[in-house]
Amino acid sequence: MTAENPATPSDFEEIYRTTPPWDIGRPQPVFLALAEAGELRGTVLDSGCGTGEHALMAAALGHEATGIDLVAAAIDAARRKAAERRIDATFVVGDVLRLDVLGKQFDTVIDSGVFHVFDDADRSRYVDSLGSVVAPGGRYFMACFSDRQPGDWGPRRVTRGEIEASFAHGWDVESIEPAEFLTNLVPKVHAWLARVTRV
Ligand code: SAH
Repeated sequence: MTAENPATPSDFEEIYRTTPPWDIGRPQPVFLALAEAGELRGTVLDSGCGTGEHALMAAALGHEATGIDLVAAAIDAARRKAAERRIDATFVVGDVLRLDVLGKQFDTVIDSGVFHVFDDADRSRYVDSLGSVVAPGGRYFMACFSDRQPGDWGPRRVTRGEIEASFAHGWDVESIEPAEFLTNLVPKVHAWLARVTRV
């Protein structure tokens, strides 16, 4: 898994055998801040939810929340956390490149560290897939590794221009701000936070 060779589904299965570097056991502060600012509206989808912290955060605030991830072990962990915390959220094993199969639309989609997983071809499939579940006026909040992060370990770095280009048609990119991810490996990683509305 390098910038040139993005992680494959089996890489993710393998990584969830232990605690992944991104799985900090609580929401990323960048999304907690959005939630506390009241930016999450209506029904919420946590796309590529891993062990579910962002869906659980949204559900705890009273949103109808769904998390979807390819890795069954991650979804099992998310369901366990929901039960332990007595939070009502729905978790689904599935492919975020085929969100249309959920047969449902959402007012808000959260993406913490998923957009940067895909190569160019799958990135464009992912944006189409997102388009199938976000109704006009719905919002997509995405945090990804930034080109401001040095080195080439971990996921590919994403530029502001790539985010703008990806959402150039059918979406309105409201803002792209410097942000950070917390990880279990290094304290902080440079990220971008994008706010995008479906038009
Ligand atoms: N959002 C989570 C996990 C981020 S890591 C968090 O913040 O902790 C990226 C996640 O995307 C992993 O959980 C991985 O299993 C998932 N993923 C990667 N490709 C996927 C795909 N095609 N469909 C669904 N999930 C996918």
